[in-house]
Amino acid sequence: MVPPMPPRIVSRKEHRISRRQISPNALRTLYRLRDNGFVAYLVGGCVRDLLLGRTPKDFDIATDAAPGQLKRLFRNCRLVGRRFRLAHLHFQDEIIEVSTFRSAAPVDEGEAGKTEEDHRPPRHLKDEDGMVLRDNVFGTPEEDALRRDFTINALAYNIADFSVIDHSTGLVDLEQRLIRPIGDPYVRFTEDPVRMLRAVRFAASHGFVIEPATWDVLCELSPTITRASSARLYEEVLKLFLLGSAGPVFPLLEESGLGPALFPGLGGGGDENGRRSIVQANLAGLDRLCRNGTPPNAPLCFAALFGPDLEEAALARHRDGVPRQQALDAACAVFFEALCRTVSVPGRIGSQLRAILALQPLLQRQPPRRPARMVHRPEFADGLGYLRLAAETSAERRPVVAWWDAFLSGDAPPTGKEAPVAETPAKQRRHRRRRPRPATVAAS
Ligand code: ATP
Ligand code: MG
Repeated sequence: MVPPMPPRIVSRKEHRISRRQISPNALRTLYRLRDNGFVAYLVGGCVRDLLLGRTPKDFDIATDAAPGQLKRLFRNCRLVGRRFRLAHLHFQDEIIEVSTFRSAAPVDEGEAGKTEEDHRPPRHLKDEDGMVLRDNVFGTPEEDALRRDFTINALAYNIADFSVIDHSTGLVDLEQRLIRPIGDPYVRFTEDPVRMLRAVRFAASHGFVIEPATWDVLCELSPTITRASSARLYEEVLKLFLLGSAGPVFPLLEESGLGPALFPGLGGGGDENGRRSIVQANLAGLDRLCRNGTPPNAPLCFAALFGPDLEEAALARHRDGVPRQQALDAACAVFFEALCRTVSVPGRIGSQLRAILALQPLLQRQPPRRPARMVHRPEFADGLGYLRLAAETSAERRPVVAWWDAFLSGDAPPTGKEAPVAETPAKQRRHRRRRPRPATVAAS
């Protein structure tokens, strides 16, 4: 634990946070807590982002009100979490998370202080390697700040006097654009390996640098990321790639060793560097989608990340004589089997990714067969999305994308036998010859 030191308090006049930037629901919540005699702070990433002039993703509040008191104070309150009760305040278009100040594990807590009769489960629990399994103890505002992951995430905005409170070195690190854990990086990354992913995510999304000694520890501990639960890692991977900084995050994952640990099947085989630069360009394409207000979904994200490898692996099988779709199925099956041991990608997302890749040869056929039908396929939008990403690094796919764009805007010339725009699925059905059904099937 970090020894206590007096906090740095920055008064309302000396910082840039204006209440106009704070969500009205969060403000109302802070005022109500304050007016009822409770301490109430905005905490976490929102304070960091407000100080940087960025729009926070969400607003979190910490208070000395206990969960039961919160429940009584707010009619729209739902208590969630079994171990540590958090309050979710439900507003029309927003959920504000309110948590009671909480402490980290004290250094001397453990079996030593227990009496023989004390058989209650410990409120703090680490496994034998130091990973935190349980930490559900209320604490002081200072303890609450020091249990947070990084100094820049431990700042608080006090509604009582509108000051910013810094119990560590968050304000200095914010100025120097540094990601620095609170306390010993080795201990903090061991307690919760997901903090390593959070470090690279914030470095990428905010253009910050991971403090050099921390970076060294992160590279050393990167293989331990697999100790986090695969379900949690799936959620974190989505945050890494879907929030607009997939491009800068990828090299950090690669260099630190987090990427190879998370995605064991990625890379390897012939022309690995070539595929890596394709993935890098695909990820930059995902970020462009975010900037244009059309953020990608999980299947497209995984197609951008794993598509080049899977297409290569499928092609290798196809060259060995396996039919194209079967080759793709086999390549996907092998890859996902390995991946799900670390990152549990839901089966539904894996199937959608497979469908995106299976559509590629059909999209790329020039002219495509029955294009008007193809656009009704559920995987069409993502399939074309993937083709667009791939066209950035593949000259031969660019005219294909141009063909589809023209077709979708109604400009494509008729192709061969059918006039694509006029064609409808209903018309297609009329022309299809009926196959006589066997009597048994007809009767059932
Ligand atoms: P974002 O902009 O992605 O929301 P954030 O910093 O607000 O960034 P959250 O996941 O919303 O991230 O978490 C809110 C706060 O909770 C963090 O700022 C940090 O103080 C604390 N926190 C989150 N995850 C951890 C963790 N694994 N260990 C310690 N503290 C954490
Ligand atoms: Mg947040």
